[in-house]
Amino acid sequence: MPPVLTPCPSRATRRRDRLYWLVTRLISVGLLPAALVVAPRRARHVACQWALAARFPAENLNGLTPATRAAFEAARAEALWCHGELIGLTDGYRDAQAQARLFADTVRRAGSPWLAMKWALPPHESRHVAGTALDVRPAEGARWLERHGWRHHLYRVYDNEWWHFEYRPDGPPPRLPHPGASITVIAPGLCAARGDQA
Ligand SMILES: [Zn+2]
Repeated sequence: MPPVLTPCPSRATRRRDRLYWLVTRLISVGLLPAALVVAPRRARHVACQWALAARFPAENLNGLTPATRAAFEAARAEALWCHGELIGLTDGYRDAQAQARLFADTVRRAGSPWLAMKWALPPHESRHVAGTALDVRPAEGARWLERHGWRHHLYRVYDNEWWHFEYRPDGPPPRLPHPGASITVIAPGLCAARGDQA
C-alpha cells in the first residue's frame, strides 16, 4: 500500500458529509423513543448505533474483541451526539489468511518484506488479526478520534496511517512513523516485535 496523506476534502465532499451527518443525526434522534423502549438506560447510545449502522451499512464489526468493539461504539456515539462527527469502520478484524494475502500483495508492490512493512504487517504481528485494530473513515472522524479517543483507550499509532487506531487499555502506545518501525530484523527472514504488535 502506498503512503496516503490525510486527504483534504473538497467543498462538495464537505457539503455531502454535512448532509450525511444531518440525516444520521436526525435518524438517531428519531429512533430515540424506540431505543428508550429497548434500552432505557442506554437509549442515546443505542439510537446512535442504529443510525450509524444505517449510514455505514457495509461495515463489519464482527471479530473485534468485545472490549475493542465496545470502546469503538462508545467513542463514535459520543462523536455523533456531542460533536457532530461521523466515524465509520473501513476495516477491523482480519483473519490470518486475509492478512497474509494483504502482506504478500504489499511485498510484491514494494519489492521486499522490509519495505512492505512500512504499510502492512505479517499476520503474527498485526493487531487487525488480534481484533484490536480499527481502520476508520472519514478523515474528519479520524481527527476526532485522534483528539478524543483516549477516553475510550483508542489511539492513533502511525504517522503514515491517519485511519489506523488501536485499542490500548494499558495506555497510549508510542507513536511510530510506520508499522514496520515496531519490528527489528534480527536475521534475514527473521523478525522480532520491538514492543507491541502493530
Ligand atoms: Zn489498520
